[in-house]
Amino acid sequence: MSELDRQVIGARADELLPGLAAQGVEVVAMTFVDNSGVVRTKAVPLRRLAAAAASGIGASNSFDFFGFDDSICTGKYSSGPVGDLRLHLDLERLTVLAAQPGWAWAPADRRDQDGAVHPMDQRSLAKEAVRQLAERGLTAKLAFEVEWVVTAENAPDELAGRGPAYGYARLSRHSDYLRAIVSALDNQGVAVEQIHPEYAAGQFELSVGAEDPVGAADTSVLVRETIRVVSGMHGLRASFTPQFSVGGVGNGGHVHLSVWDGERNLFGGGDGQFGMTATAETFSAGILDRLPALLAVGAPSVVSYLRLEPHRWAGAFAVWGLENREAAVRLIAGTSPNLEVKCFDHTANPYLVVAALLFAGMAGETALPDPIDVDPGSLSDDERHGLGIRRLPATLADAVSAFEADIVLHDCFGAPLATTLMDVRKAEIQRFAGSTPDQITAAYRWAH
Ligand code: GLU
Ligand code: MG
Repeated sequence: MSELDRQVIGARADELLPGLAAQGVEVVAMTFVDNSGVVRTKAVPLRRLAAAAASGIGASNSFDFFGFDDSICTGKYSSGPVGDLRLHLDLERLTVLAAQPGWAWAPADRRDQDGAVHPMDQRSLAKEAVRQLAERGLTAKLAFEVEWVVTAENAPDELAGRGPAYGYARLSRHSDYLRAIVSALDNQGVAVEQIHPEYAAGQFELSVGAEDPVGAADTSVLVRETIRVVSGMHGLRASFTPQFSVGGVGNGGHVHLSVWDGERNLFGGGDGQFGMTATAETFSAGILDRLPALLAVGAPSVVSYLRLEPHRWAGAFAVWGLENREAAVRLIAGTSPNLEVKCFDHTANPYLVVAALLFAGMAGETALPDPIDVDPGSLSDDERHGLGIRRLPATLADAVSAFEADIVLHDCFGAPLATTLMDVRKAEIQRFAGSTPDQITAAYRWAH
């Protein structure tokens, strides 16, 4: 970042100050997401906005080695407590928070003290993937769907809101709460598309409109943190964990994705399968091929694999299909055709998910296999074998091995981040050696 860049950013911050002050903003929080998917933060008083955007705020390098439980692992690239980075808040995404009076929020990029992008910065990696896609003359639109469960604040072990799955009774029981979420997000410029009670007691789902990939990852952070705050205001506690309790219903973090050439969505209007263009097919094949490795990014926790089981609409098999909710990759046709990657969850860092999906799609070179239009889990082993259906990794350790064997993803992520990411995963696997599923679900319940 040059001196001129800093001056331009500083001037832009100064321009924004009066408007923010008029809206009552006193403090600005900036967030980044660590390799364990935890949203970490620092905040500054409003008068420090220009400094936070142009010169950044100090943050330890050790955040790259943080576990979901705040343990800090050692890895090949760790420098322990030594060294410092700068969090640069992104003024373009600065948002006045509707449910936290006096506060605004912005995502941050991490740079070194000279202003160069930190090689392990996840948001910058997502930007790099978008840049590489643009080099091919393409753009992508993404949206993260969020599923979550709530408990009463004073009874955190019990899911709140009994009643039938997708039942109106569950919506009406929580109508103030759900309205407050939609209203807060609307005031924050987030395009809510849908909200509804999900399958399980206490479970809800919210979807938003597709946007540019980095913007979609930013929105995913903002949506979940807004839901968390509004839940607290309604005497509820929100959990985005993939598996709240053993045997219960899981929370997915499905990603919707389409690739565009200018104004043209390449997932429709083509002469390939179900109207896909050749580019969309190859892109999808790239994602499908690499799903085992991608799971180390998109389903990155030990608890992720308690959710990722057959017959739970989580997508436990490496197949794709038109509107097949048991396929890890579901093609959605219709007016806004897109690919839904179902096997991911919200313990993932959304910026790494964006980067990984785009890199995998761009690396696609094979043709898409035949679509699957049955529940792969209901077939016999022989039938699955005959159709070439693979089960996705059933443990985080298997996903880590797949990622480590994937030279393309390793190169795209760069050795420091690819290695550190897996160091964090391995420390997490070790932490749970010998743990029961009950202990695992309990440990993650309130981390994300
Ligand atoms: N709750 C399911 C999951 O764990 C998804 C249900 C749905 O298809 O919306 O991914
Ligand atoms: Mg759902």
